[in-house]
Amino acid sequence: MERIIDKDLACYNCGHEVFTTETKEYYQCTYCRTVESDKIRFYRKLNEEESYDLFMELVPKVGEVITPNKDKVKESIKNIQNEVEKYILDAKLESLIIGISGGLDSAVTVALVNPICEKNNIKLLGLSIPLSSSNKHREQAKWVGETYCDEFKEMTEWETTKTNNKVNEVLSSLNTEDKDEAIAQGNIKARLRMMSLYYLAGINNGAVLSTDNYSEYWLGFWTLHGDIGDISPIQYIEKGWELPEFAKELGVRQDIIDQKASDGLSVTEEDSDEAQLGLSYKEIATIILGYENRLPLDLKIIYNRIKENSKVKNIIERHNKTQYKRNGTFEITREMTKLNI
Ligand SMILES: [Zn+2]
Repeated sequence: MERIIDKDLACYNCGHEVFTTETKEYYQCTYCRTVESDKIRFYRKLNEEESYDLFMELVPKVGEVITPNKDKVKESIKNIQNEVEKYILDAKLESLIIGISGGLDSAVTVALVNPICEKNNIKLLGLSIPLSSSNKHREQAKWVGETYCDEFKEMTEWETTKTNNKVNEVLSSLNTEDKDEAIAQGNIKARLRMMSLYYLAGINNGAVLSTDNYSEYWLGFWTLHGDIGDISPIQYIEKGWELPEFAKELGVRQDIIDQKASDGLSVTEEDSDEAQLGLSYKEIATIILGYENRLPLDLKIIYNRIKENSKVKNIIERHNKTQYKRNGTFEITREMTKLNI
């Protein structure tokens, strides 16, 4: 029997087009070869508006699946602390250094390592570098630093205007005035923060804590050679649903948990991550879990119906475009050089 493509339908398993026969009794996916069953039917393709509405319905359902309960969070905190403790004892460190912004990531990171530092007499140094930060962020950073660190400093000498003036002065010799500089300028601020943290680590026999979370990592939403560190406690913890649960368990102040995420680099006027990404971290978590095939079957079927939506596609494109960041430095290996010895 001749097979034709039914353009109105899509596969529940992978979202691709499906074959049918002239009598329309039999349907099979053109891509994964799944055959329609009595239990699960192939579905009608959705337009942009319909798929967006369905996406918004899916988000809280994914939240229910991903949000860890109290016991899970407690267990996970213990596991992370044990691993970090092993590392700092092996490396014979005397201190840990962390950049504190007043945001959720640095608050959770410092609260996580605080008990290990106290137990092993490791000095925990917090540094706030308020590059264009609001007064509210500065107050929040101060609370985090004074609550969880042995020593907390605020480095005001690098405030926006001074930093920008100095940086612009140096970079003006490169004649880049016709280029869009907003992101490159933001990256410089991240790298200034990194320099300060490593300076403190150097003089205190310490290591720098990275405050990157999994959502940023997956999106490539961090500055190479800027937002880095030697120990990354929350690298694989998702920001929208998981991190707030950790924060609650660790006693982080509620207004720090509730505020809008911001990288503090003023790349957009609103200066929130959401404005830069176009979606909230809860919405992005839905895409990450769908893309990584981590959803239970009933939600996976819904995800396959919405993955052609332009907002979803944009986020996936961002992930793919930034793969080079997650790959690290491209190195020409010894083998590639074809040298003899
Ligand atoms: Zn399929």
